[in-house]
Amino acid sequence: MVMVDLILKKRNGGTLTKEEINFFIKGYTEGSIPDYQAAALLMSIYFQKMDEEETAFLTEAMMKSGSTVDLSEIDGIKVDKHSTGGVGDKTTIALGAMVAACGVPVAKMSGRGLGHTGGTIDKLEAIPGFSVEMTIQQFIQSVNDIKLAVVGQTHDLAPADKKLYALRDVTGTVDNLSLIAGSIMSKKLAAGADAILLDVKTGSGAFMKKLEDSFDLAQEMVKIGHRMNRDTIGIVTDMDQPLGNAVGNRLEVIEAIDTLKGKGPKDFTKLCIHLGAYMLLLAKKVSTIEGGIEKIEAVIHSGEALQAFKTFVDRQGGDSSFVDKPEALPAAQGTCPVIGTESGYVQAIDAQLVGLSALSLGAGRATKESTIDLAVGIILHKKVGDFVNPGESLATIHYNDSVKRDEAIEKLLNSFKISAEKPKERPLIFGVVTKDGIKKLDQKF
Ligand code: URA
Repeated sequence: MVMVDLILKKRNGGTLTKEEINFFIKGYTEGSIPDYQAAALLMSIYFQKMDEEETAFLTEAMMKSGSTVDLSEIDGIKVDKHSTGGVGDKTTIALGAMVAACGVPVAKMSGRGLGHTGGTIDKLEAIPGFSVEMTIQQFIQSVNDIKLAVVGQTHDLAPADKKLYALRDVTGTVDNLSLIAGSIMSKKLAAGADAILLDVKTGSGAFMKKLEDSFDLAQEMVKIGHRMNRDTIGIVTDMDQPLGNAVGNRLEVIEAIDTLKGKGPKDFTKLCIHLGAYMLLLAKKVSTIEGGIEKIEAVIHSGEALQAFKTFVDRQGGDSSFVDKPEALPAAQGTCPVIGTESGYVQAIDAQLVGLSALSLGAGRATKESTIDLAVGIILHKKVGDFVNPGESLATIHYNDSVKRDEAIEKLLNSFKISAEKPKERPLIFGVVTKDGIKKLDQKF
């Protein structure tokens, strides 16, 4: 097989075979296929697209490019959850403990963040002592003992995706449905769970800005999951404004803990409860979504979810006394209000701009090498639909550097759109995708 033939075939609108896709992935991972040929094929895929079967072959080849995790020693049905990402998305931190408190094992492999704010691991590291360093055997043992563990993603998990994602990032080929679906699902499948819940975000702060594209992505991933014998559900949820009120690592941990105490923001709490209910459904712990919602609400109210989080923090070396008083987590040196000058309803909050504002403060990584400032971030006091009076505070910024603070304030002010008209309420959950198809919902919070 010769790589240039594959490039020409795809460039001219042909369909690649399983053997051809395997040849490409194996050769690129090993280094026998150079970046320029891989980039040419990616661009051909970008314009000519891949069909369902090609996407599944690509996913499988990337999944098998490294080691796969065997979680069979963990008792029960292991359900993984993946979010396509967004601003203020601290869901895993609260959700893991809620689901574990219901007796469902949560074995989570997470990554660090590149961009707006940190990833789940960065956020958890805002708790002094917390570590995700452990062997796979220790990881399995923790899940069997306390139902919840979070470990860093190993370098050998879908290495083809790691290499290809970096190339896509610099060749304008990230936003192709098959390439995104293959990238996410290859990692999820390699991570070894029995069932997968996908939180596919839609809106200004999401990869997929348009609702229909988000449903298409969810559908593509659900099909891949089922093809690989993993029960998979996709939920399309809103990311047109930040999720919850907190953006930035320490602040997001505090908000997640508040939510476990039943005192979290309405939208974030509702999302956690619904995602948790779907995880219980996938784990066959309940037979209806309503039953799942009831169970998750019960463990929040009884304090069992909070206790599960404390036990988890303890087990992973963190100082669990911070769970009782999260405001005592190492904080930024200064805080400052962001004051609006207009009066009216908040029409929109551009999630991406809020993320960039947090990034200016140092809450995220501009490059892979950047160090992250865990203490800085933003607390939003107003969300879409709220009324603002002139001189009222839209948000509070937590900062360690006054130049960065001023940059962040400017971006944050630009992210708010205020007008006289009350905006139409936007759903939090737009729909659910299962193997049986799409069910559109219109669930507000
Ligand atoms: N997240 C991934 O892991 N891969 C993509 O291609 C896009 C988002």
